[in-house]
Amino acid sequence: MTLAVDPARLWNRLHDLAAIGAYRDEHTGLMGVNRLALTDTDAAGRALVKRWFEEAGLAVRVDRIGNVYARRRGLDESLAPVVAGSHIDSVPTGGAFDGCLGVLGALEGVRALDDAGVVTRRPIELGFFTDEEGCRFGTDMLGSAVACGRIPLEVAWALRDRDGKTVKEELARIGFLGDAEERVAAPHAYVELHIEQGPVLAAEGFELGVVTGVQAISWQELTIVGKSAHAGTTPMHLRRDAGFAAARIHLHLHEMIESGRYGADMRATMGRIEPAPNRINVVPGRTVCTVDLRNPDDHAMAAAERELAAFVRALGDELQLAIETRQTARTASIAFSGDVQEVIARHMREAGVHHRRIQSGAGHDAQEFAAKCPTAMIFVPGEYDGISHNPREYSTLEACARGATTLLRTMVTLAS
Ligand SMILES: [Zn+2]
Repeated sequence: MTLAVDPARLWNRLHDLAAIGAYRDEHTGLMGVNRLALTDTDAAGRALVKRWFEEAGLAVRVDRIGNVYARRRGLDESLAPVVAGSHIDSVPTGGAFDGCLGVLGALEGVRALDDAGVVTRRPIELGFFTDEEGCRFGTDMLGSAVACGRIPLEVAWALRDRDGKTVKEELARIGFLGDAEERVAAPHAYVELHIEQGPVLAAEGFELGVVTGVQAISWQELTIVGKSAHAGTTPMHLRRDAGFAAARIHLHLHEMIESGRYGADMRATMGRIEPAPNRINVVPGRTVCTVDLRNPDDHAMAAAERELAAFVRALGDELQLAIETRQTARTASIAFSGDVQEVIARHMREAGVHHRRIQSGAGHDAQEFAAKCPTAMIFVPGEYDGISHNPREYSTLEACARGATTLLRTMVTLAS
């Protein structure tokens, strides 16, 4: 018997969920999704998916950080479950697939098991985790990090959004402050289906990816203070130009990458550059900029951070500027389970799916579960260069169904 999900039903569910928090993007005219964590729209999305879980006959529980689990019984209920999860919150300018594909793909997998009359030896649990995106309360993978023990519940509850509202207050307000224990006992395995959110699979003509791990991420915020001056009257050699320093740092990051010293896969981005006073004829006296570094190799990442710090120090001396660096996020690289990767790859091979191994460029709930149990992920290629966190985010019905069917077969193998 070859188990497969119903592609149309998966597709319809993805679009029914995307209708909650839908908005029209003013630049492109496309429909996007805005379901920021613990807002009224997130609550409506949660209620819909919870209802779908219940309609599928699953036992639903909500834990104290608002994570929602749905359990399908196994033949031996004393065994640890296989967990398949992701998230349904979005960034304010999101699409229909990020996170939702993993949750609804797993749900359709369970429906396919019901249709085929298959009962696995181990229980299967589906889950969606609170505030994976981190856009509202400033900490990403929040729900899964609490579930897996990286962040204490009390710390997570006390996080505030820009309006001063806490996670706990908002969970209670939307009716998702559950009473189930938030710390998960070690599952047998964790699998997550997700869109790639990058261009690699589509560009190389691959149908799916087996994710090998998540690269290390380092975020820094640099505040550069010099001296504002008149653009016409201040000679170049007498300037203390904070905007120029940001440009030099940006350029140096690219030189570091081009040197190859930090491996072929290092990435650096200066995504935010805010000069002040931000006027055409004024030398910027102050500039705040951010540096986002990614590297699959922890040693290379640490060495790159050291070089950047040394460069920034020397530049401050050279240009007579005060440069303050604040680390705003830092995670080490995570290697997923070779065994779980091999189960996924085997199902892809058997189905004749053209696939490759791929490192994740983005963070995912799976990285939290990797600390608790054997874990891996399946990537589905996206269209339009894999653009994500954007209304243009798109993957085809065929690709989504292929990914969900691989997830289903992987869950069954792991639960047998
Ligand atoms: Zn996601």
